[in-house]
Amino acid sequence: MKALDELTFDNRFARLGDAFSTHVLPEPLDEPRLVVASDAALALLDLDPAVAQTPVFAELFSGHKLWEEAEPRAMVYSGHQFGGYSPQLGDGRGLLLGEVYNAAGEHWDLHLKGAGMTPYSRMGDGRAVLRSSIREFLASEALHALGIPSSRALCVIGSSTPVWREKQERGAMVLRLAPSHIRFGHFEYFYYTKKTEQQAQLAEHVLNLHYPECREQPEPYLAMFREIAERNAEMIAKWQAYGFCHGVMNTDNMSILGITFDFGPFAFLDDFDAHFICNHSDHEGRYSFSNQVPIGQWNLSALAQALTPFISVDALKEALGLYLPLYQAHYLDLMRRRLGLTTAEEEDQKLVERLLALMQNSGVDYTLFFRRLGDESATLAVARLRDDFVDMAGFDAWADLYKARVARDGEYSEEQRRARMHAVNPLYILRNYLAQNAIAAAEAGDYSEVRRLHEVLTKPFEEQAGMEQYAQRPPDWGKHLEISCSS
Ligand code: AMP
Ligand code: MG
Repeated sequence: MKALDELTFDNRFARLGDAFSTHVLPEPLDEPRLVVASDAALALLDLDPAVAQTPVFAELFSGHKLWEEAEPRAMVYSGHQFGGYSPQLGDGRGLLLGEVYNAAGEHWDLHLKGAGMTPYSRMGDGRAVLRSSIREFLASEALHALGIPSSRALCVIGSSTPVWREKQERGAMVLRLAPSHIRFGHFEYFYYTKKTEQQAQLAEHVLNLHYPECREQPEPYLAMFREIAERNAEMIAKWQAYGFCHGVMNTDNMSILGITFDFGPFAFLDDFDAHFICNHSDHEGRYSFSNQVPIGQWNLSALAQALTPFISVDALKEALGLYLPLYQAHYLDLMRRRLGLTTAEEEDQKLVERLLALMQNSGVDYTLFFRRLGDESATLAVARLRDDFVDMAGFDAWADLYKARVARDGEYSEEQRRARMHAVNPLYILRNYLAQNAIAAAEAGDYSEVRRLHEVLTKPFEEQAGMEQYAQRPPDWGKHLEISCSS
């Protein structure tokens, strides 16, 4: 276990030079205080959980103090936002403080979000508010616990610094961890500005540090692109299987590592709704729940375009063709497991589609349906769940197919079925109204609810004593919360 001053830095991205990022010092927040820290994320840096309670911890992650070896930099990138190209984005309110490696030899980027203005702030103030910082923290750690690849969050530091959004709020910073902060938009920036030499440097950097096994392939860059496409297919399959809606799938928010990245107006589905739009400024529904699948491919095409100086168009097209079948395979595999099935049959996809069609407009809680389905035998479970459906006859017909399918799947006890299903069907997810309750308390100065919710979400599959209130459907006020995009 390390103390805070014992971190070992190796700032590989900073060494790429000024064409890639700009040196900027964080702008401190007033009266910094720890809101919440993640023990699991501290462990990634070999840090003793006790360090979070020391005053220097809050100072380090609110811009008051820096390690000597840190080299805070704002990265430049661009990207397609809602389908249109924005030629210059970049870290407008976050800084890559440096890269740390742990005892296992893993590198972690330390990115401080809300650290003040940078050359890429455009019209923004460089700040993040408490509300959005808590949401990013909870989502990162909750997704990770569900087994969905995601950036991680070390802590949230609150402050008394006023920040103006629709109303006056308080500034906060969240310390994000990821093996890399390189986005699709990094490649697009160098491609559209025709800085081919730097783009090659970037491609080499990503290949060497993050896809070294692709070096062995006859066409390393193509192999790397294929791997990125595969990872995105798998990540989005997990989003769809667990009902996660990202909300702002712009290419500047897509990680080159295929991890969930940049949390804004995201939401987990409460009631199942394929057309759900969590971002209320997304008027066309470009990033609606079911559109996430084709948008994943669209985003990969945008990256492919940026890689045309290195890879032939035909090869890129072929690699893009991998995305959908891989997505479908991962998704179906997960959904089979969510249904408690251990074998694969041709008709399983139809079984899943029929179930979701019945859930649509039925007001069925997506998460609790699967959890309850595993509570008891298939026969007893479907008999109990049918009342939740508007089309009960339709559900009965589905239930007959399901029971027959379960019978063909094999012989196992109710206990085995429950254990297997509960291991993939969470009881606790980050529902918007739960986040909202925790945020309201934190804004009033009480951080205990954020901390408790975070604790519960670190073990989403395990029933936790006294935590029933976190496994409930939203009350009326919490059903259609409009999550502000201003963050
Ligand atoms: P996001 O919607 O958070 O992914 O941000 C899109 C772009 O806007 C990125 O370049 C951000 O750095 C920038 N940005 C977002 N909010 C702010 C802010 N408050 N101040 C400066 N830049 C911001
Ligand atoms: Mg972003």
